[in-house]
Amino acid sequence: MRKLLCKNCGNAEFYVINMNETLCKCGSRLSKLSDYRWEESKKWKEFYLEEQKRQTELIFKISLLKRKIDTCLDEGDEEGFKKLTLELKACQNALKTGASHHTARLRERVKHNKDVV
Ligand SMILES: [Zn+2]
Repeated sequence: MRKLLCKNCGNAEFYVINMNETLCKCGSRLSKLSDYRWEESKKWKEFYLEEQKRQTELIFKISLLKRKIDTCLDEGDEEGFKKLTLELKACQNALKTGASHHTARLRERVKHNKDVV
């Protein structure tokens, strides 16, 4: 269940003045849908930050793997090279999948918001 929150302070409890107007604890009078925001926006932000963190970790891991692969090449370590290349591909795929998944979610979210406001 999604709750409406006050856009100014994020509070979810309102004093109802009449059919079209409510009063928030912070003193804001809310009369339009655009005076509110949806509760899930916080969740979305958390998801976004988590996704960003995941991507940063992947990018870091990829650069680390590339360095290791270089070392393998220098030392003629074929086994290590094969193993690391597979790992690198998996990481790059995960990054790609994550990014497109993320974009799809973002589009969905934007579309949804437009419908609401
Ligand atoms: Zn408020």
